[in-house]
Amino acid sequence: MKITSIKTYLIEPRWLFLRVETDDGIVGWGEPVVEGRAHTVAAAVDEMSDYLIGADPTRIEDHWQVLTKGGFYRGGPILSSAVAGIDQALWDIRGKSLGVPVHELLGGAVRDTMRIYCWIGGDEPTEVGEEAARQVEAGLTAVKMNATGRMRPLETTAQIQAAVDRVAAVREVMGPDRDVAVDFHGRISPAVARVLCRELEPLQPMFVEEPVVPELSADIGKICASTTIPIATGERLFSRWDFRDVLPQGVAVVQPDLSHAGGISECRRIAAFAEAYGVALAPHCPLGPVSLAASLQVDFASPNALIQETSLGIHYNQGSDLLDYLADPAVFAFADGYVQRPTAPGLGVEIDEAAVAKAAETGHRWRSPIWRHEDGGFAEW
Ligand SMILES: [Mg+2]
Repeated sequence: MKITSIKTYLIEPRWLFLRVETDDGIVGWGEPVVEGRAHTVAAAVDEMSDYLIGADPTRIEDHWQVLTKGGFYRGGPILSSAVAGIDQALWDIRGKSLGVPVHELLGGAVRDTMRIYCWIGGDEPTEVGEEAARQVEAGLTAVKMNATGRMRPLETTAQIQAAVDRVAAVREVMGPDRDVAVDFHGRISPAVARVLCRELEPLQPMFVEEPVVPELSADIGKICASTTIPIATGERLFSRWDFRDVLPQGVAVVQPDLSHAGGISECRRIAAFAEAYGVALAPHCPLGPVSLAASLQVDFASPNALIQETSLGIHYNQGSDLLDYLADPAVFAFADGYVQRPTAPGLGVEIDEAAVAKAAETGHRWRSPIWRHEDGGFAEW
């Protein structure tokens, strides 16, 4: 088998799909993207395709090694995301060629269903209680919310209390048998993160995510040591070497993104690496259906997988949502908070190629919001 074509598709709201075709007609899909930098990742995939066209797609690990290290300059979100999407597509092809889902090739299923969660509240949370109630109604047992909008390096008592009140409103809806996770989104200074964690402790969030920006990962142990709330991080870390810095520091959950951190091959290794520290896996996935399918394949083969993020109905997805490009959306259906194990070959999803081609005619130029403080200075989003 040889790779004969590699093509990317810019798909609203902010996605990039990858289609890899082989000479025996098997097609694999990937989702190589950095939110807000889709064109840049597409260019990186195009450069990598020079090496891949004509190559045997079944040599997944060898391709991963060459694409990751063979350019001499390595790492970071753009290159690691390009490799991630290619890696997903190669696993998809391999599974389809053997007639088995990818998790069968990773050692087989370690569970029958996987717990999932969705987002509530958007970038600047307000009516979160009502949204949580809607998600419970829809059959979820866990939700995640941003703790705050923009936050200054030191904040007022009122701002801290407002964040606590929002989480409390959600906790009241969810009750003691369901979970609420709180994302600090790297918006909050380490000093305020410690204060906010202290104030949130009585509400027992499932975890607090990205309490500090990834540049400060070396300091995340100070946050872990200051609170009893489990700390999660990792959506902006891109390889097992990036996770080397945070795993020994007491984090409870790692959140590699299947579309950023080197794909199925590397996220599988990060999961095993985390297991060695007693740390759970909760893959980051605010992206599209291929990324979610790849995440679930790793979840179903990883004993420490805790819960899976999905982007269904996320605030970014207006007009183009998770299920719109699937021939059979039932593959992601959930009940009582869990999705069933995918059984179709490869990534387990069938992409509606006509819908993808049509959406790519429009494309997108999605960019991350730029926030500013009241004084005009830059604010973390
Ligand atoms: Mg996050």
